[in-house]
Amino acid sequence: FAPWRDPAARPHLRIVDVVKDFGDARAVDNISLDIFGAEFFALLGPSGCGKTTLLRMLAGFETPTSGRIELDGQDLTAVPPHERPVNMMFQSYALFPHMSVAKNIAFGLEMDRLPKAEVSRRVEEMLALVKLERFAGRKPQQLSGGQRQRVALARALAKKPKLLLLDEPLGALDKKLREETQFELVNIQESLGLTFVIVTHDQEEAMTVATRLAVMRDGKIAQLGEPREVYDAPASRYVAEFIGDVNILEGRLEDPEAGVIRIDGAAAPVQAGRPISGAKGAPVAVALRPEKLVIERRDDGPDPEANMLDGVVEDIAYLGDMSIFRVRLSGGGLARVARTNRVRLQSQTILWEDPVRLSWDAQAVVPLEG
Ligand code: ATP
Repeated sequence: FAPWRDPAARPHLRIVDVVKDFGDARAVDNISLDIFGAEFFALLGPSGCGKTTLLRMLAGFETPTSGRIELDGQDLTAVPPHERPVNMMFQSYALFPHMSVAKNIAFGLEMDRLPKAEVSRRVEEMLALVKLERFAGRKPQQLSGGQRQRVALARALAKKPKLLLLDEPLGALDKKLREETQFELVNIQESLGLTFVIVTHDQEEAMTVATRLAVMRDGKIAQLGEPREVYDAPASRYVAEFIGDVNILEGRLEDPEAGVIRIDGAAAPVQAGRPISGAKGAPVAVALRPEKLVIERRDDGPDPEANMLDGVVEDIAYLGDMSIFRVRLSGGGLARVARTNRVRLQSQTILWEDPVRLSWDAQAVVPLEG
């Protein structure tokens, strides 16, 4: 399932040159984006980057200053929220406290004057979908946070929207429940084959649920891609630092054609093994993910070669399945290394203050723009 890789695939949702200004502040700055049917798309970014404003324009709660939004070829830009085949689920759930779970789910359907039998059928179907059959008669305050969140989801899906928008839907849940619920959301989305667009500032959440994600910055898309792609090949320092943990090394481009970089203060060069754009001598930065670094004790070994850095262990965090080493580099600066603790894979014990050598494959080197 990757329609975005097929140039002939028709997008389900099209966002075309959308701008949103609040007074003289530009919240969304000329975004164009195609989202495909049955995608679980994440808008990811720090507070204030414009992701909620974009989502609210999809729902119709905000009107774009310019540009248009199309769903299945229909221009939605001027269509009021309740006439759009779109529904939104909020972080606060916004459940009616005096109504039972079943009534909460039925509410929108009754407002639409659906026949009684159809309403009951859909309520049953939704209760089964979110596994709350046994709780149909309870009031929201008699439910856990996770259960309330599922009622809100059931209610948002009951009207069978073509597009479901989720605004930080798991924000109120604790970490463990959040993680479980992320997988449940994916299961539900896949089983219904619906298009979901989620807004989150949590990169792990976006990586877990999304088919593709857009990392936003200052009202623009900084990078768009599949989670793996964005993680493995961040285009900029901003994206590299926002998604996951990363080491950034700075230096100068020694050989653009061969992709060789001289890192400030390091004994040996960094080699990307493929061309890097830029002039010889130009400043460059590269990203290296902590789990791509191999750490070994350095006992009077030979001098470091390309893609090696020497240093001393300054801190070790034991996280159970893995350890994070903070290494003070000989040339200055710190590097973070993530190493699995699975014993059969680890022959060496590395301790605090040990001299160590870090090494990595050329493919792990990601040159960054800007
Ligand atoms: P958060 O995660 O904090 O909600 P966000 O990335 O969703 O942040 P938006 O809420 O879309 O960001 O806000 C983008 C920018 O637009 C911010 O600078 C915000 O102050 C501004 N903004 C949003 N809504 C309004 C409004 N109704 N009036 C004026 N400015 C607004």
